[in-house]
Amino acid sequence: MAEDPRDWETETRLVRGGLARSEHGEISEALYLTQSFAYDSAEAADARFGGAPGFIYQRFGNPTTQMFEDRLALLEGAQVCRATASGMSAVHVSLMGLLKAGDHLVAGRALFGSCRWIISEWLPRFGVEATYVDATDLEAWKNAVRPNTKAFLIESPANPLLEITAIGAVAEIAHAAGAKLIVDNVFATPIFQKPLVLGADVVVYSATKHIDGQGRVLGGAILGNEALMSEAYKDLLRHTGPAMSPFNSWVLLKALETLELRVRRQTENAGRIADVIASSGKVHKTIYCGRPDHPQAAIIANQMTGGGNVIAFDLGSRDSAFRFLNALQIVDISNNLGDAKSMATHPCTTTHRSMPETERLEIGLTEGWVRMSVGLEGAGDLSRDISRALDAA
Ligand SMILES: *Cc1c(COP(=O)(O)O)cnc(C)c1O
Repeated sequence: MAEDPRDWETETRLVRGGLARSEHGEISEALYLTQSFAYDSAEAADARFGGAPGFIYQRFGNPTTQMFEDRLALLEGAQVCRATASGMSAVHVSLMGLLKAGDHLVAGRALFGSCRWIISEWLPRFGVEATYVDATDLEAWKNAVRPNTKAFLIESPANPLLEITAIGAVAEIAHAAGAKLIVDNVFATPIFQKPLVLGADVVVYSATKHIDGQGRVLGGAILGNEALMSEAYKDLLRHTGPAMSPFNSWVLLKALETLELRVRRQTENAGRIADVIASSGKVHKTIYCGRPDHPQAAIIANQMTGGGNVIAFDLGSRDSAFRFLNALQIVDISNNLGDAKSMATHPCTTTHRSMPETERLEIGLTEGWVRMSVGLEGAGDLSRDISRALDAA
């Protein structure tokens, strides 16, 4: 009996999923840096354009990109994955493919800054209205539904304070309203949370984060079942051109091989660092999805299998947060996350500075909060660096 990759363990999927060797039998996946493809005959070109299997043009598909897509789809348990040039192109396409003029969207109010821009500034130009809700409040989701609601968008855990949405319960509300649920699964990673299994219709990633995890390239992905991916996204992706570069696909394909190892080690480190932070007298509050004192620990236990690598903590004031950041010697001050290198940022003045203050306060984001993405350095070195910076705070 031939092996079915869908029966493989996660580690095997990540190393061997989607592998499509050329006639040379290369061990490391080939980088097909080619825009277009030649056909054996005019008849073959005719057939290819008529839908016969094979590649036509890099904007539609590429063998290296397809290996990345197939590997990520296998990891996620999705029928189809389409790679995009960045996480934001994935979010943008995921919304544009489901919405048209006159439609309504409901979104969790704690979202990545650029996602909020798309919803608040961009979609209204096309006649799409949106309602933001407290994503932790199921009644709020129900109350926000209108007859023309076509999509729900959530990020769980959300940036930067790691709010959790009960994905299954929100999926039921969306489906009862005839809407699709899109989940931005970046913070959880495909290792620790499977939104499609929980009831979501579409999953999006910024592959820039943990999937690369080594600070090199941008990338994104949209995943879902075959019917929806074909109906909502296939033509939109072909004709508007947010395709992932084959070079970036190759980098990210190789990065998937070590994703599980990296995310698990980052998470072990984050667990230790969260304890260091939470036990400091300088810290007013610590939020980490791997700790039993997370406000939504019960939902986390239902839908996530690991705490991830991001920690948020409140040092009480901007001055204190800045003193902490400026005293770090190993951890970088940077707004990225999921990297091998640990990084910390002050969301109010960086990632969330364009969010109006009233909305920042609604999500509890005051000036003392720091968000830390824990990397792969030695946990002892990180603990020492962070303890010293906490003393300085
Ligand atoms: C970074 C990020 C994005 C955007 O991804 P890019 O690759 O930077 O375009 C979207 N959503 C979340 C949750 C992110 O962290």
